[in-house]
Amino acid sequence: MPKHPLAKLDQKFVWHPFTQMRDWLRREPLVIVAGEGAVLRDVNGREFLDANASIWTNLHGHRHPKISAAIARQLRKIAHSSALGFANEPASTLAARLVETANADICGSQFTIDTPKAEGARKSEIANPKLAKVFFSDDGSTALEAALKLAYEFTRRTRGAKSKPRFLSLDGAYHGDTVGAVSLGHIDLFHQAYGGMLFRTDKVMSPYCYRCPFNRARPERADARQCRKCHWECIGLVEQKFSAQKKKGDSFAAFVFEPLMLGAAGMIPQPAGWLKHAAEIARGHGALLIADEVMTGFGRTGMAEAESGKRKAETLFACHHEGVQPDFLCVAKGLTGGYLPMAATLTTQKVFNAFLGEYEEFKTFFHGHSFTGNQLGAAAALASLKILQSEKSVRQRAQLQQHLHEELQTLWPLPNVGDIRQAGLVAGIELVKDWRTRQPFALRERAGIRVCEAMARRGVLTRPVGDVIVLMPPYCTTRAQLHKMISALQDAVSESFAPESQDSRRHKSA
Ligand code: PMP
Repeated sequence: MPKHPLAKLDQKFVWHPFTQMRDWLRREPLVIVAGEGAVLRDVNGREFLDANASIWTNLHGHRHPKISAAIARQLRKIAHSSALGFANEPASTLAARLVETANADICGSQFTIDTPKAEGARKSEIANPKLAKVFFSDDGSTALEAALKLAYEFTRRTRGAKSKPRFLSLDGAYHGDTVGAVSLGHIDLFHQAYGGMLFRTDKVMSPYCYRCPFNRARPERADARQCRKCHWECIGLVEQKFSAQKKKGDSFAAFVFEPLMLGAAGMIPQPAGWLKHAAEIARGHGALLIADEVMTGFGRTGMAEAESGKRKAETLFACHHEGVQPDFLCVAKGLTGGYLPMAATLTTQKVFNAFLGEYEEFKTFFHGHSFTGNQLGAAAALASLKILQSEKSVRQRAQLQQHLHEELQTLWPLPNVGDIRQAGLVAGIELVKDWRTRQPFALRERAGIRVCEAMARRGVLTRPVGDVIVLMPPYCTTRAQLHKMISALQDAVSESFAPESQDSRRHKSA
């Protein structure tokens, strides 16, 4: 079949993000022209399931009538006016709704872990702050960039202009691609090229039970978090980092983390209790908490574990599963239901007040973007929040979470499935050469990519993170669609690593 003209145009002119363009130019790209619910349609009329919610953005499915109508209604009034100098209707309402939502539903008092260090940290627990103000921007990176600058300047204003605020973040974390966000992140592959442009941040081990050097458990056919045998050394390391920095005379200004699950690191979830205790340690050492909920926000991490005697609680933010309220809550991707680029950094009255002053004092937060507070994005976000908080959506998500859990269990018999990690409505399936040894595939085997290509041939689209296959179904995904996603993955893994397929690849490369 000849290449579609749009595919030709793309290959002639477009440079795609995070893509080896030599590979891209070798094959005809899928050109998406439409979508409905969890389905994407390409220019040749083929249909695919959107199994990673269009790179983790989409919540309720494509062309949701309520979000489409909200955007259309807003379009009849105005698409955009500047937030530099003017307020606008949907952004003001959205800010109020976000603050209200972010202060509700904090659970998590049941998470206690049995380490002496954590015991010490609990004593220093400081009350959770209230979030009060919203700074809008355009995407995840800029939401983090705003938090970073605000935390930096707040610290200098409260600790003294001579202080040099330092940030602690998690090894393997990804916080975006702007230079500040890259400095906070610790994925060597993405960051080493830009080392010369970055400022130094410190990192601490993030729990990764499946490959944790402290975990003495043998590989099992179950989520490594559940079978872990350790003494919470990862929490001990957080405490050590904070104590060592304090001894240097200038405690960390802020602790930056992706709560419950690190996304781009490979869908790596934290064992229950880690977040609460790491946050308590940070607070005990006077650090601000910056929570990156760009991936996890808006219900993605599902229902919170029930405290004894209570039913499972619905929370929209991952932090709240463990009773943590940060000083900065960064959201993007799903904020508009995945319809338009918009982000927000929520913070406290205390941080806000540090930037108040007379005009000539220049205490202003000198930061912002042309499309800050965009009306179309805000209208979509308001509609999305309303859907999220409807009983129907809560029920739908609880069911999808349960179905995802059940479907995922069918993957354990595959010898190349090493770990299956689910956090609510997102899952990472780590592929290995053999589950008994946890041996990873060599990079040149492109195991994750090959499996995703084989899934695409079966009508299911997702993108791997290394050799971790990501499943992040839109919340409207039906049981049958979910089943198709999992079956496609199952067949793709079997096809990609069947002995014949390995033989034929050996012949090809010989
Ligand atoms: N933080 C996290 C946790 C993310 O997953 C991402 C994007 N994958 C970002 C920040 C950056 O977001 P964006 O691509 O919208 O800039």
